Amino acid sequence: MDLQLRGISKQYNGKPVLQDVSFDVAKGEFVALVGPSGAGKTTLLKVIAGLEDPDGGEIHCSFASSKERPIILVFQDFLLFPTMTVFENIAFGLRARKFPKTVIRERVEHMLHYFQLENRANAYPAQLSGGQQQRVAIARGMVVNPAVMLLDEPFANLDRSLRLETAGFIRRTQQEFGITTIAVTHDLDEALAVSDSMGVLMKGRLEQMGTPKEVYFFP
Ligand code: ADP
Ligand code: ADP
Repeated sequence: MDLQLRGISKQYNGKPVLQDVSFDVAKGEFVALVGPSGAGKTTLLKVIAGLEDPDGGEIHCSFASSKERPIILVFQDFLLFPTMTVFENIAFGLRARKFPKTVIRERVEHMLHYFQLENRANAYPAQLSGGQQQRVAIARGMVVNPAVMLLDEPFANLDRSLRLETAGFIRRTQQEFGITTIAVTHDLDEALAVSDSMGVLMKGRLEQMGTPKEVYFFP
């Protein structure tokens, strides 16, 4: 029960952006992907999500299926629907997939609860704090019960205490629902605090992959 990447490579205009990237992610695992800007982290997420075709290599996920348990990507510059309430934003993916109303209501209420947004259900995005908006964007992805959730900088634009809080929300929810998660982050502290494994991407190569303790040496 793994997500397997084997020898993934990708070029943009002849410039290698991903080079022979291979790793396995166990079902339910939380992987933090770190590395400098331009290392290829976002491109790797897009390739896993199927939004970009790799030039070489293969990806298999034994537990994902495009209909029942998709692989989804939550972008850094998440765009909530401004004319929809929090409830409607979170419900969007379920409505698009034509889930019954009772199921939609139940699942959205779960997410509102997990992300402590119960009392914001009828608010519009513009009425929310930055941290609340970020949580809605993540809840909107998680509500469809993805096999794999890919998060691009979920802590971006948040101050320190909000980053920790958001990391905690993601961690608890992905564990509760068994959602395999790969999160790109610049923040090593958050990566260390919440991840089962940590991958270090540099210049398109996966330089290290292991438990946070294996990867990160505390002097
Ligand atoms: P990171 O997420 O680690 O900052 P990216 O995956 O966004 O890295 O980008 C890796 C490299 O690929 C960068 O040099 C970037 O300029 C380049 N790149 C990303 N997307 C494209 C694209 N659509 N076309 C051309 N070059 C791109
Ligand atoms: P419909 O979508 O046909 O209007 P619903 O009864 O499912 O019927 O929902 C009506 C509206 O009420 C939804 O669009 C949603 O914005 C809001 N809503 C539904 N359930 C909740 C809830 N638990 N908390 C807040 N708002 C809700």
